[in-house]
Amino acid sequence: MVRILRVDPLNPRGEDVAEAAAVIRSGGLVAFPTETVYGLGADAFNAEASARIFKAKGRPADNPLIVHVSSLDMALEIGDMPDRAVEVAKRAWPGPITFVVRKRAELPAVVTAGLPTVALRCPAHPVALRLIEAAGTPIAAPSANKAGRPSPTEASHVVEDLGDSVDLVLDAGRTFFGVESTIIDVTREPPVLLRPGPFTVEELRDILGDVEIPPFARGLGEADVALAPGMKYRHYAPEVPLILVDFDLASATEAVRGLGLRVAVLCLAGKCADADATIYVGSDPYEIAKNLYDALRRLDKTKVDIALVPTVAERGIGLAVMNRLRKASGFKLAKNEAELRGLLGR
Ligand code: AMP
Ligand code: MG
Repeated sequence: MVRILRVDPLNPRGEDVAEAAAVIRSGGLVAFPTETVYGLGADAFNAEASARIFKAKGRPADNPLIVHVSSLDMALEIGDMPDRAVEVAKRAWPGPITFVVRKRAELPAVVTAGLPTVALRCPAHPVALRLIEAAGTPIAAPSANKAGRPSPTEASHVVEDLGDSVDLVLDAGRTFFGVESTIIDVTREPPVLLRPGPFTVEELRDILGDVEIPPFARGLGEADVALAPGMKYRHYAPEVPLILVDFDLASATEAVRGLGLRVAVLCLAGKCADADATIYVGSDPYEIAKNLYDALRRLDKTKVDIALVPTVAERGIGLAVMNRLRKASGFKLAKNEAELRGLLGR
């Protein structure tokens, strides 16, 4: 059985943090909470430990990890942070934004998938920050889920996916934002958004001026592999086929039921419909983001043929929500009943 320590998210006990830090220092894997989702952490300077992350997750070796730091100073030792990244970091860290920069330290190739760049983030979670400080080393950590599964927003999701391949789980309850960090590549001019997240594009543009948003960052089609290694993989996929509905949800649901199919509906932004299963996600964009992955996991436990989810406005954290939903649906979106029937092959 995997060891699970219940910790207070705001004020973890020193001995629990010390135990987890000792696991990191001895080359083990610790699942820990951040303000976005749970991470699966290893000492970023230990190649063998970092390689264990890929094995535990079933993660392809060409999908680089984010390196988590406890301060801007720690980040500056690892990566060449350009002035404009430092400016954003001073305002946004600790927080849900990751910078892709040129690497400075001799990190193991496995962490960065052999790239000359590294992704850096300082998480805004007391447990994560204290763990990194106590370990005295940056922590490489992707989300603590099996590759291709929704990211974990509570400890039970981690145990469900990874079980004994983790040495220790720090359980601090549900994570705050529920979607992964924003990623911006600041090695390019203008900076390029690689993944939308809780730190919004609107906020980034306030500080940086221009920010490029390639179509894949909106969740429109596959990523440009050279620009965003790892993003080509279809993340966050529920086992039940999911379709985004950009027209009246009640008539979409009726149409699907009329075909003799059992249908589940994810209810968001006040939109719901009578179906074989209804899963409440949230009414405002932050609540939706927070509950989204748990809703996708619950969806897989319902016995339905198809799931429908309404679209949300692509601004603020809504951009991240739509990006995850577009990927989870395999880019299937219907604007009317004819398109919906087309997607169902009827
Ligand atoms: P995850 O930790 O599972 O949320 O995934 C982190 C993502 O960060 C990866 O899938 C990559 O797309 C991205 N990433 C990490 N390092 C780099 C890098 N050096 N260059 C570009 N993207 C990166
Ligand atoms: Mg992930």
